[in-house]
Parts: sequence; structure tokens; C-alpha cells
Amino acid sequence: MTVDNKDKQAQLQDILRDAHLDTLAVRAGQVRGPEGEHCEPIYTTSSYVFDSARSAADRFSGDEPGNVYSRYTNPTVNIFEQRIAALEGAERGVATASGMAAILSTFMALLQAGDHVVCSRSVFGTTTTLLNKYLSKFGVAVTFVAPTDYQAWESAITPQTRALFLETPSNPLSEIVDIQRIGDLARRNDSLLIVDNCFCTPALQKPLQLGADIVVHSATKYLDGQGRCVGGVAVGSAAHMDEVLGFLRSCGPTMSPFNAWVFLKGLETLRLRMEAHSASALQLAHWLEQQEQVEQVFYSGLASHPQHELARRQQTAFGGVLSFRVRGGREQAWQLIDATRLLSITANLGDAKSTIVHPATTTHGRLSEEERAEAGITQNLVRISVGLEAIEDIEADISRGLSALS
Ligand SMILES: *Cc1c(COP(=O)(O)O)cnc(C)c1O
Repeated sequence: MTVDNKDKQAQLQDILRDAHLDTLAVRAGQVRGPEGEHCEPIYTTSSYVFDSARSAADRFSGDEPGNVYSRYTNPTVNIFEQRIAALEGAERGVATASGMAAILSTFMALLQAGDHVVCSRSVFGTTTTLLNKYLSKFGVAVTFVAPTDYQAWESAITPQTRALFLETPSNPLSEIVDIQRIGDLARRNDSLLIVDNCFCTPALQKPLQLGADIVVHSATKYLDGQGRCVGGVAVGSAAHMDEVLGFLRSCGPTMSPFNAWVFLKGLETLRLRMEAHSASALQLAHWLEQQEQVEQVFYSGLASHPQHELARRQQTAFGGVLSFRVRGGREQAWQLIDATRLLSITANLGDAKSTIVHPATTTHGRLSEEERAEAGITQNLVRISVGLEAIEDIEADISRGLSALS
């Protein structure tokens, strides 16, 4: 008996519903077309042709499923959305032009004037700016809290609170927030919990399983993993994602099909890369702790980390980003950075290439001295995103930096 291609595809979709993360990362979302292409095709088309005027009308009204215009949906982008939703265990995903566009679109779609957000103080700097400078213009208020001060989260909630927002592990000090605990708090207060899962990716942490309602990503980081494209994605329930897609349709921060294709290729190696990044970062953290020019190392994989046990429960590994304080101040931190040759001096992270940066004068440079002190971003702090080079060569490069200290 011959099985027709449509039946096989339907059977494959059934199998994928129960498949493991590694399988989903390679297969989810793709429906092979009549050409039998093996790799996902890139649909570089802005619009779509309808069979008839009736069909055009039905597509526009939503009565007939299908593509209308690539600001709204595109088949390549759609594969990426389905794949990341499958990996996070979400009903739906919506891809966006950048990580910031994912965060903006989520807030714009689900909040309105008069609403209040409680946000961890240790989130990506531009997220703070988005809330403080732009959403405030439209009547959305925000309170920032220390991420691991659960009393502060609870006290910050008002009758207007609609969303709690956090990032864990935090950047650059690797603070770990108990997602389940904040998820319970959100539910008790009729609020949404939104988690930026950029640093762990679903390969290491699944916030929706721990009670988050929505996960957002900068796909620019580990989802791509090779520093090629800027993009983002939000995942959650179909109802929430319908709202986010509605915002995209009207306001336009859409992901390009080429970028979606690059991210699809990135996802295929996601778990392998995250495990390699994590293994090297853990080894580097132990090594740094033994260097006499190093005062303190911040990495949740170290037993010395205050939330080490929580990180072990919540994540399957500790990720690729760590930071440390050198003995001295800004001068010593800069000397170390300038003496490295292999590591790239850049604020980007989640790349196959290791990167090194001085947070106090770059990523956290816009904070006041007082805000930096409160957040623990001292002048002698250095952050490393551990790449996929041999760990011996990474250590040798940092040794070069440490020997240069005066
Ligand atoms: C980079 C980053 C963002 C913003 O993503 P873009 O793709 O640069 O817009 C948001 N959150 C975290 C944690 C990030 O590291």
C-alpha cells in the first residue's frame, strides 16, 4: 500500500507532539512542500496570490486560513514560530524584528493606560529604558524590585498590576530568580508573568512549565548562536499570541524570512551548543576562582553562588555567561580586557566566539553611579560570554590579561 505524502506529513506531526527537545529543535514546524525539499525553504515574498476574489475576501476576513502579506505571516517565519513554541512547550509563538520588538509587542498588546508592571531591577538595560521612557508616556507605570527579594515583589503589587517581568539568570551577575514563586504570586494577583529566557533558552530552562504565562527571547543571542542576525520571539497561549500578532500586523516590527531561516539553522544545534557553552563556562568559573588577581566570580554553577541550589532545580545547566571582579578598579579591568587577543571586545553574547566586556562603562554605562552600586556593577567587574573555542585557549587568553595587571 502506498501512503500519500499528506498522510505521512500528518503522521509526522502526531509523532512530533510527543517528541523530545532535540527532535523538535530539528523537525518541528516544517511541512514539506510538493518539491520534497529537505531543508526549510526561504519564502522571499512580500505578498501572496489568491485563487479568486472570493478567496481574497475570505483570507482578509480571516474566514480562510492562509497568508495575506508578510508583515503579518510568512511561511518561513511561521516554521520558526512553531519550532520555538514547541521547544518552550507553548501553544503559539510570534516572531519579531528584534528581542526588544518582542518585549515591546508583548507589552503593547496586553497592557493599557493605567496598568502597572513590576519588573526585576536586573533586566536587560534597554528593557528598563522601554518601560521608563516610552511605556510611561502611554500611562503604563512600573516599579523595579531587587530580583531575589520576594517580599519586595509582593509589596510592589498594586490593584493595577497586570504584569510581572523578570530575567533569570540575570546579566551580568547571574542572579537566579525563582520562577515558580513569582508565577504563584502573579496568579494570586491576577497578573501575567513574562520571563525573558534569553540566557538559558528552552534547552536549559522552561519557564512556562514553572508557571510563566509568556516567554520572550532575543533570538539574536543563543537561538542564532553565531552572531549573524537580529530577531526576537514571544511565546504563550493562542489567545495572548493573537493579541501580539495583532500588534505586529498594525505596527510592523516583523521578522524577515531570511533571519527566520538563519534562526532555524541555529535551533538545530541549540542543545549541543548550550551544553558546550555551559561546560566551558563552569570550568572557566572554577579556574578564575583560583587566580589570585581575581577577587570574586559570579556564576550560578559555583557552589559559592547564593542561589546555586535554585539554579540546579530550575535549570539543566548554568549557561555560558559569567562575570568576575579583578583586584583593583576600572584601570585593572580595562588592562585585562585590552591584553586579551582571542576574546572579542564586544557587548554581544551567546555567540560561538567568546566575548569580553566592561559592564560599568558599556552595557550599564547609562546608569547613575548610585544605581550601579545598588546593582553590584562595580568598576572592577568584567563579563565574559564563553564561546565554543577550546577552553584551554580561552584560559590562556585570560591569563594574558591577568598577567598584564599592574
Ligand atoms: C539582547 C537582549 C535583549 C534585546 O534583544 P535584541 O535582539 O538586541 O533587541 C533582551 N533581553 C536580553 C536578556 C538580551 O540579552
